[in-house]
Amino acid sequence: MSAPRACVIGHPVAHSRSPAIYKYWLAEHGIAGDYVREDVAPANIMAFLAGFADSGYVGANVTVPHKEAAFAAAEADAVSRELGAVNTLWLEGRRLLGTNTDVHGFLANLDEQQPGWDLRTRLAVVLGAGGAARAILHGLLERGVEEITLVNRTPARAQALAAHFGPHVRPVGFGELSAALASADLLVNATSLGMQGAPPLDINLGPSKPGAMVYDIVYVPFETGLLKAARARGHPAVDGLGMLLHQAAPAFERFFGVRPRVTPALRRHVLADMGGGG
Ligand code: NAP
Repeated sequence: MSAPRACVIGHPVAHSRSPAIYKYWLAEHGIAGDYVREDVAPANIMAFLAGFADSGYVGANVTVPHKEAAFAAAEADAVSRELGAVNTLWLEGRRLLGTNTDVHGFLANLDEQQPGWDLRTRLAVVLGAGGAARAILHGLLERGVEEITLVNRTPARAQALAAHFGPHVRPVGFGELSAALASADLLVNATSLGMQGAPPLDINLGPSKPGAMVYDIVYVPFETGLLKAARARGHPAVDGLGMLLHQAAPAFERFFGVRPRVTPALRRHVLADMGGGG
């Protein structure tokens, strides 16, 4: 049998850090496999996925903008049906199966960096109403968070998510953020604000509840402005790199048959690959 190969499918995809993660684990486990980038234009994605069984790949990660197309092309499991998006594809024979590991990645990182967080989180604030926010709402509700204030620039997107998830999610505009922070145990940034190349996330943590946890899923740069501001005020801060690493672990297991570990050495390796700190 030839060496197993997997890939990350996106457009553009040159920025993806996934090869650094998967190649690290392949070497760690002595697996003679490979992991590469596949830049597939939107016009070609359905044909690419239709021919996946003959592509020579055992599986693939899927990133922007193809997660909905992957959902449409694959036999999607329960969690990806809940999110309407697939980020992991793999073959069983010629069948193309799909799941979404973002919920797992978000929660596993929080469990690792703030053990017992769910016992002290009744109220949360989530910024953003895109694909990542959807996975985060699913994860927080699954773990028993009672009320989530969902803050988004475009009200209709927050309202649509609230309608989907039900009365535990309260959609508001940025004008109500200060009041919401005063009682929140956890703040999560799931917008792209603060990311390299995007505008900064300009919010005031002043009104926040003392000791509230602050989680930024943006990981380029590694230490975002939000995380810096949180640490300066004594808030426990959770970075987004761990989410990226944890969402990759179950995918690696699907592709290569071994469940890899997220270790400090892996974090250092990926940070170095990002140029030392994003
Ligand atoms: P998305 O679906 O495009 O959603 C982007 C979100 O950011 C929307 O809520 C959007 O608000 C908001 N936004 C963008 N520009 C804004 C601006 N100028 N002012 C106010 N709000 C703005 O993206 P996504 O897939 O959810 O990803 C969001 C971020 O999470 C990205 O930075 C991504 O890299 C990161 N992420 C990290 C991980 C990880 O593993 N750590 C996983 C997934 C995503 P509107 O609705 O008003 O447009």
